[in-house]
Amino acid sequence: MEYKLLAEVYNKLESTTLKLEKAEIISEFLSDLKKEELSMVIYLLNGRVYPGWSSSELGLSSNLMIKAISRGYGVTVEDIEDGWKILGDLGLVAEKYSVQKKQSTLFSRTLTLSKVFNNLRKIGDLGGMRSQDKKLALVSELLGSVSNPFEARYLVRTVIGDLRIGVAEGILRDAIVGAFFSNIYSKETLDQKVNSMTKFELVAKYAIGKKIVVDIKLDVYLLKKYEEVYTELNSLNEVIVRDVGVIGDDYLSKKKSGVDYVFFDDCFIGNETKSKIISSVEHAYNMTNDFSVVAQAARDEGISGLHKLHLTANHPIKVMLYQKALTIEDAFNIVGEPAAIEYKYDGFRLQIHKTQEGIHLFTRRLEEVTNQFPDVVSAVSKNVGSWSFILDCEVVGIDKNTGKCLPFQKISRRIKRKYDIDDIVKEIPVTVHFFDAMMVDGKNLIDTPYSERRKLLESIVSCDETVMVAKHIVTSDVYVVKNFYDESLFRGNEGIMMKNMSAPYKPGSRVGYGIKIKPTMDSLDLVIVGAEYGEGKRAGWFSSFNLACYDSDSGEYLTIGKLGTGIKEKSDEGGTSFLELTDLLKPHILEDKGKIVTLKPTVVIEVHFEEIQKSLTYSSGFALRFPRFVRIRDDRSPEDASSIDEISLVYGGQRGRG
Ligand code: AMP
Repeated sequence: MEYKLLAEVYNKLESTTLKLEKAEIISEFLSDLKKEELSMVIYLLNGRVYPGWSSSELGLSSNLMIKAISRGYGVTVEDIEDGWKILGDLGLVAEKYSVQKKQSTLFSRTLTLSKVFNNLRKIGDLGGMRSQDKKLALVSELLGSVSNPFEARYLVRTVIGDLRIGVAEGILRDAIVGAFFSNIYSKETLDQKVNSMTKFELVAKYAIGKKIVVDIKLDVYLLKKYEEVYTELNSLNEVIVRDVGVIGDDYLSKKKSGVDYVFFDDCFIGNETKSKIISSVEHAYNMTNDFSVVAQAARDEGISGLHKLHLTANHPIKVMLYQKALTIEDAFNIVGEPAAIEYKYDGFRLQIHKTQEGIHLFTRRLEEVTNQFPDVVSAVSKNVGSWSFILDCEVVGIDKNTGKCLPFQKISRRIKRKYDIDDIVKEIPVTVHFFDAMMVDGKNLIDTPYSERRKLLESIVSCDETVMVAKHIVTSDVYVVKNFYDESLFRGNEGIMMKNMSAPYKPGSRVGYGIKIKPTMDSLDLVIVGAEYGEGKRAGWFSSFNLACYDSDSGEYLTIGKLGTGIKEKSDEGGTSFLELTDLLKPHILEDKGKIVTLKPTVVIEVHFEEIQKSLTYSSGFALRFPRFVRIRDDRSPEDASSIDEISLVYGGQRGRG
């Protein structure tokens, strides 16, 4: 298949902001693909060439990309930089030069999907000395072979990790449902279609030559509302009208019965069927963290194929996230009674996997850190009695002199350290506090209620001074929780977690299965999405930073304010300096407009503030009063940043507004 076809799909996706339309564009494309193309396309639609569980990345900075464009099209670096300042997007700059090149070249080769995919994989896999040169050569080879300007645009954007097509996980999930479970339309979606199309378009696009099932209720509905359309459908197609009761299960079990479209009324059966399929796809994705495997299973074996997908030790899954509550009473309202209450330890999260080959550790960003923690590997292998598991825990750094917990900045040195590991292991010992089990003895526990997961966890962990199970009580009594909370804070922890006893483990979701309660609500984890160069003694550094929170519904980052305080002028003052932050952020520049740059959302920082105010200036609708930098949260991925819902909650809780 030609890469051009995918580039055209990217372009269609970029041209609409409607989620439904995006899902439909993708589902139409997916349903026509060959088996071997499907997996590559799914990864590439996600802007990646690896599954979600892999921490491998293409990782080419904008600066290196400028060189690749320069090589690919024989243009000077200066010209490209000038174009970048004007267009604000290296993809568009490459597109412009690809058109010029095409006009001056007689023959152009066809760029295939597999050529692009393989070159990109090679780029991601390259490391070590001289790898930059090789990466450059691979990108410029691709750029030199494009025959369509969109190809250049999206190739560049894929390689620098900024596809700009607005395809969040929910859209991909819905597209897989649409592609491999026929097209199932509820009354609502049908309404949208009919309203946005002429009758003829509707029939032409969705019906001619297709076999259609119309449920009885919709039959009536269609006849009343779209009488003409229905008559036309009937004259052009074989329309089978069936009883409502039959459709759901019958349809599911006979996926390949030759029916192309199923129109469901917004009735119980229609929604039930659709939500069954959606949750099966979602569940399969939660298990595998790999949409490509999910799409293959959906296509080849339907629902039963999805149900066959398993957790795999060594393929990290997304971690479950927790909501915030302001009071213990509020938390009980969300998690129910009785609830499990645990200490909230203040360290960093690790997902620990064991297979027959050994133990592997992953951060919450799913980066492998096994080599950095040989002490954890050996303590866990000694103290956890299960042949294959996936466990969730918080690792806390201990001050050797006082025995107290160390602040996060200290232990984060252990995550980053790649050499002299033995020294740092001695300097900063850690304790492991297990709080959840997703797999024990090879058995998937994702759908097992929390209370049972906890029992299993206790049964396999032998506690000593380095490995423990999180301190835990079960109660419905607010006063008991209050005492436990005070005790947790007294012991130097961050607060408490309150958990729903019967909830499953929900990877990647901030559903209300667990609630965190901490004393300070005046700090947020925010993503840096832009920056401004300073002047005078700060010339050459970024001195002001645009902050954003995360909206998990849309997958977008919503701005909430600018920050310039709390950062050190010099590197030797202790804390993070402007220079350090600038160095950290520069490789993630997406748009360079002279003094101001747009950054790929990558770096998360903790920010203190005095108050949250309503604001029309920022896309979140909120602004922070007196924001102040606290620390870099390099254990967090941008999706782990404070959510817009959390911010609304804190806003509501301020001065009794709630
Ligand atoms: P926050 O980082 O404020 O969103 O709080 C959630 C984090 O608290 C989790 O990601 C864990 O890293 C950490 N944590 C500490 N103790 C626990 C616990 N007992 N249960 C769950 N998470 C915990």
